[in-house]
Amino acid sequence: MATKYTSKIKFKVWKRHVCSGCGAAFRYVFEREKEGSASTEAAAQEAARKAVASALASEVDPHPCPHCGIYQGPMVKALKDANYGCLHYLALVGAPIVLLILACTDVLGPAAATWGLAGAFALTFYGHLRAASLKPNADRAKNADVAQAKVAAGVLVLDERGRPEPEVFPGNEPMSGSARFWLLVALVALLFVPAADLGRLVQDWPANAGWFPPVAGPGDKTYVYLPREIDTLKGYWKGKATVVVGNAAEVGIEELAATTKHDSWGSTIRAKSSEKSSKKTLWAEVAIPDDPKLAGKKLDLAIRVEATFPHSQSSGWVEETEVGDLTTSLVLAPPHAGATWRILFWAGFVGGAIAFLVASLALGGALTASDKGEPTTIVPFEGQAS
Ligand SMILES: [Zn+2]
Repeated sequence: MATKYTSKIKFKVWKRHVCSGCGAAFRYVFEREKEGSASTEAAAQEAARKAVASALASEVDPHPCPHCGIYQGPMVKALKDANYGCLHYLALVGAPIVLLILACTDVLGPAAATWGLAGAFALTFYGHLRAASLKPNADRAKNADVAQAKVAAGVLVLDERGRPEPEVFPGNEPMSGSARFWLLVALVALLFVPAADLGRLVQDWPANAGWFPPVAGPGDKTYVYLPREIDTLKGYWKGKATVVVGNAAEVGIEELAATTKHDSWGSTIRAKSSEKSSKKTLWAEVAIPDDPKLAGKKLDLAIRVEATFPHSQSSGWVEETEVGDLTTSLVLAPPHAGATWRILFWAGFVGGAIAFLVASLALGGALTASDKGEPTTIVPFEGQAS
């Protein structure tokens, strides 16, 4: 591992603005701690110095002008940017990745995953709405009170008086057309994420908890886990699945075709020590006959999987057999509803997430765009080196 050097610089200066509204000159205490990291000490110090220079040139703290009471354009931007913190990006980027992994590994049901994602996106959408509705210069009298309190506390100083009334009010302008457009795209994408389950609710299709997908009709396939775990070498197993319909007299079919895992491993298995004991849960995929008369029927099922798998021993391995049984039921939706559900699930989860991500990135720029304001100057803080 290469050594990493970190250099920190803490500073306190006055930042001086010329108000873009009234022309007054004012300054406020501007404090930061910046750091730089690199593989050499000199480079780390250089990186920290650059971070300081960048902060001095472009970062601002929000303080109303003590003469006219408006916030400068870059301050309005800083206030809007505050709605786009870590949590915003965690919900925007982290949630889709985590929920997709949980859904693909069947840890979380697919419908729950899409609702979880819609929830995370709703949080980021709320952040957009807050940034969109923030107008720090809407109440100038209140801002003037805030400024006077800061002046009294000694953190804000009026150096030169300006014109009696400000000529501009940064942030008060109506929302731009592109911001409106992207807000609409984000809202539609957010509602499209749980499209599969929303569609199911609208169509009143039955959902079967524990089945993947939870919606199945005549002509569909869906799978379920059995309450049986096997200890297999390298995760290999193969099995034979049978599904007997308990209420055959009522629904008119006695058995359903079913498949399960079918690995082949030959006579020699090469495995790392970490692969010697791999726990796997038995499952069976059931095929529903493509008979429209079955729609809406409830099938009582007795599912059995006979699994054969290599089981490691102190030296080598032996082939073992275990049987898993599950008695459950499946309520059928209209023909091929499961296939539709599957398409909507992926379209919602992937398509909806991509559209929401694109709209969010566009919105971050559109909502926080701002004029650069007047250039600022730096004044050393009295009695202290900057
Ligand atoms: Zn002013």
